[in-house]
Amino acid sequence: MKEIKKLEDLQTLVSLCKRRGFVFQSSEIYGGLNSCWDYGPLGSQLKLNVKLKWWKSMTKRLDVVGLDASILMHPTVWKASGHIDEFTDPLVDCKSCKARFREDKAPQNDKGERLCPQCASSELTETRNFNLMFKTFMGPVEDKGGEVFLRPETAQGIFVNFENVQGSMRKKIPFGIAQIGKSFRNEITPGNFIFRTREFEQMEMQFFVSPGTDEQWFEKWRELRWQFHLSLGLNAENLKWHKHEGNELAHYAKQAFDVIYKFPFGWEELEGVHNRGDYDLKQHQKFSSKKLEYFDEAQKEKYVPYVVETAVGADRLILAVLCDAYREEVTQTEKGEDVRVVMGFHPDLAPNQVAVLPLSKKEPLLELSQNILAGLPDLLNVDFDVTGSIGKRYRRQDEIGTPICLTVDFESLEDKAVTLRHRDTMEQKRVPISELSQAIANMLLTFN
Ligand code: ATP
Repeated sequence: MKEIKKLEDLQTLVSLCKRRGFVFQSSEIYGGLNSCWDYGPLGSQLKLNVKLKWWKSMTKRLDVVGLDASILMHPTVWKASGHIDEFTDPLVDCKSCKARFREDKAPQNDKGERLCPQCASSELTETRNFNLMFKTFMGPVEDKGGEVFLRPETAQGIFVNFENVQGSMRKKIPFGIAQIGKSFRNEITPGNFIFRTREFEQMEMQFFVSPGTDEQWFEKWRELRWQFHLSLGLNAENLKWHKHEGNELAHYAKQAFDVIYKFPFGWEELEGVHNRGDYDLKQHQKFSSKKLEYFDEAQKEKYVPYVVETAVGADRLILAVLCDAYREEVTQTEKGEDVRVVMGFHPDLAPNQVAVLPLSKKEPLLELSQNILAGLPDLLNVDFDVTGSIGKRYRRQDEIGTPICLTVDFESLEDKAVTLRHRDTMEQKRVPISELSQAIANMLLTFN
């Protein structure tokens, strides 16, 4: 009998990520830099795969085009967007242990008083609003005139390019602009590994629609985004919607729903879907004095388009993918408990789809294995491992989520066939080398 255990505490995942080359602490040899993380060889491939899946899901649509805007923008952008005045979090200090934290995320006692998360004291300073934007200076002189901000969201690069994109691509409303890029927020309390960091990557799409059709499009995009998360292999039981109501709604939002995910530390936001109305384009129109209207030929009228936005953090989505994929298969054997750790990634996301494992390092097996590796389709990412016992090599591949292990043994020299091992069922199948591409493609389809 096999018992399946899912991820219970984040630390287990953090250690696996470090041990297996997914994520390392930034500047580790100097003691690390708080909330900054580096993606290792497998993590950077996983991240690329997640971003590619998102990018394709957006830009394969004829009504969505891509953009890659710069991180530094004209400072007035942030005045117009409301970030200079409104992009703040409530900051408090604990009078007793001097910890500094975000007031709205702090625990509360029975009387509704906020408590210090570190020492549970309710003796806190007055709340101050702290602007989350990172500031820097452009040019050699560090004065107010050269002040610029690292963008806290990618969306504004899209709004200010609305006309450029619409005109150059001859787009008719409704259409969307998709973008992936770094954002920076000087978060008061970052944490939970790559969940909340000060430098992160966002994948945002702004969909421009005619006024009056926004609510319909909002519902449509909610459905599409839900399906996207399922297409990554995320378990539907770990996903839910959270509706923003009352003062939870941001200053720009008409309607907002978050896709929330059941992380080991609780249900938290994964993605926001917002109906931003015409707030952004109207603000940029006002501050730039440029008309950002669209002439709708079908309706024979001019209007400032409404915007439905979908915004997900690449890093946060990767954390959800990692948490969701983790499982321990525990079997009782005569020698005691045997634990197989498996990262059950969807094959499109797995850093490698196939691992070629020659049973021995000796020739001519090595040469045959190298020839097989060279003959595999370019579209596959393939690992090649000759070190250690075959059992240990299988376990390593399970732990990094490789769907298929391809074992080349001495018989392969005679029968011109190899063994394909399925990560999830551990079933093995003998396949002629000449039929490998098709057999691999078929086996990959059997993963969720
Ligand atoms: P939160 O309430 O968690 O601070 P938010 O509502 O301010 O997030 P948005 O501005 O809607 O977040 O950003 C869109 C997405 O970007 C979020 O759903 C999240 O996936 C990601 N994101 C935002 N802030 C961070 C961060 N500090 N670290 C990692 N990802 C982030």
